[in-house]
Amino acid sequence: MRTLKDINFEGQRAIVRVDFNVPLDKDLQITDITRIKAAKPTIDYILSKGGSCVLLSHLGRPNGFEQSLSFQNIIDKVSEILETKVQFCKTSIGPIAQTKADSLMPGEVLLMENLRFNAEETEGDVVFSERLSKLGTIFVNDAFGTAHRPHASTTIIANFFQNNKCFGSLLEKEVLAIDKVIKDGTPPILAILGGAKVSTKITIIESLLEKVNHLIIGGGMVYTFTKALGGKVGNSICELDYCDYALDLIDKAKQKNVKLHFPIDVVAGNSFSNEAKQKIFDVMKIGTGWEALDAGPKSIKRFHDVIIKCKTILWNGPLGVFEFPNFSAGTIAAGKSIAEATINGSFSLVGGGDSVAAVKKFKMDNDMSYISTGGGAMLESLEGKTLPGIAALNQ
Ligand code: AMP
Repeated sequence: MRTLKDINFEGQRAIVRVDFNVPLDKDLQITDITRIKAAKPTIDYILSKGGSCVLLSHLGRPNGFEQSLSFQNIIDKVSEILETKVQFCKTSIGPIAQTKADSLMPGEVLLMENLRFNAEETEGDVVFSERLSKLGTIFVNDAFGTAHRPHASTTIIANFFQNNKCFGSLLEKEVLAIDKVIKDGTPPILAILGGAKVSTKITIIESLLEKVNHLIIGGGMVYTFTKALGGKVGNSICELDYCDYALDLIDKAKQKNVKLHFPIDVVAGNSFSNEAKQKIFDVMKIGTGWEALDAGPKSIKRFHDVIIKCKTILWNGPLGVFEFPNFSAGTIAAGKSIAEATINGSFSLVGGGDSVAAVKKFKMDNDMSYISTGGGAMLESLEGKTLPGIAALNQ
C-alpha cells in the first residue's frame, strides 16, 4: 500500500479525492461535519510538506447542475472546518478549472465544483477522467465512502498516474481497520449483525462465516431464522422466502464451527411505534398481534457475556428499532458491552450505516476502536470484495 509518506509533495499539486458528501438541511447547512473533518489530516500533511491540494468530491445525486448541491453553498464552512482558506472553482474541468488549478501556490487549497454535475463522473468516462487528472501532478484517494464505485474521480483517474498516486490517511485507516478484523483479527473474533432484513446481508453473513468464531444475529433478521426453526413470530418482520436460506446458514455455521447466538427473549410492541404497549416474550413464542422490536433483558445478558470475551469485534446493524427510545435498550446495551471490551483491550470496528448512526446517537463514538466513514464501501469490503478505487491505487 503506497501511503502519503511514500510521496514527495514538495512543490507538487495533489489531486485529493475527498468525500464531502455531507448531509444538508433545508437551509443548506451541514448537519454532520464528520466527513470534512476526516479529510483534514491528509490535506494538512500535504500542505505541511510544501504541496498544494485540488480537492475533488461529489455531493448528493444531482441530475445535471442543481444550485442546492453546489459546493459554493458550503465553501465557507469547509474553510472553517479545515482551518485554511479554501478557494472554489465553479467547474471541475475545462479552461477555467485548468487555469485555476495551474495557478495554485504551495500551501493553497482549491475545491472544484460537485463532480456529479457531469454525468461522465458516474459513467467512469475515460476522457473526463483524463481531463481531471491534468488538474494535478499526484493523485491521492482519501474517499473511502466512494471507493466501491468505479467512477471517474474514484477509480478511472488513477490509471493516469503511475507511481505518483497513493492512499490518503483516512483511506489507509479504513483499510487497516477492516484488515484487522477480516484478515488478521485476534481470536476469538465476533461479528454482531443486526438491522432489518436477512436478504440485504446474505453475502456478508456467508463471507463472515469464513472469518469469525462467534456471530450474534440481532434486530429484525432474527425472525426469519426463528420462523424457519418453527417459532411463532407474531407481527415481527420476517422474510418467508429466506427461511430455507436461514436454515442453510445455521448448518454452514455448524460446519465451520462458528457459534451462532440469537436473542433468548424480545421486547415486543402492539404496534410499530415508540408509544406501543410493551411485552416481553420468549424469542420462539411471540404472541399474535405483537411485533418484536428490541432484544429482551436475558438476551442483553447473553450478548454481553459473548461480547466481553471476544478480542476482535465487528458491529454492523442495530439490535432493535433504536430510533424509538422505548425500544433502544438492546442496541445501547450492545454498545456499552463493546465499549467495555474495548477498554479491556479488544479491537472494535463499527461499520455500515445504521450502527454508526446508533453509536453516534448514543454518544458512544469515542468508546470504539474505529468507526467507519463508509457505508456501502464497508459492506462490500466485509463481503470480501476488492473495491475498484483501492485496486486502481495498487496497480
Ligand atoms: P439495516 O440498514 O439493514 O442495518 O437496518 C437498520 C434498520 O433496522 C434500523 O432502521 C432499525 O430500526 C431496523 N430494525 C432493527 N431491528 C428491527 C426489528 N426488530 N424490527 C424492525 N426493524 C428493525
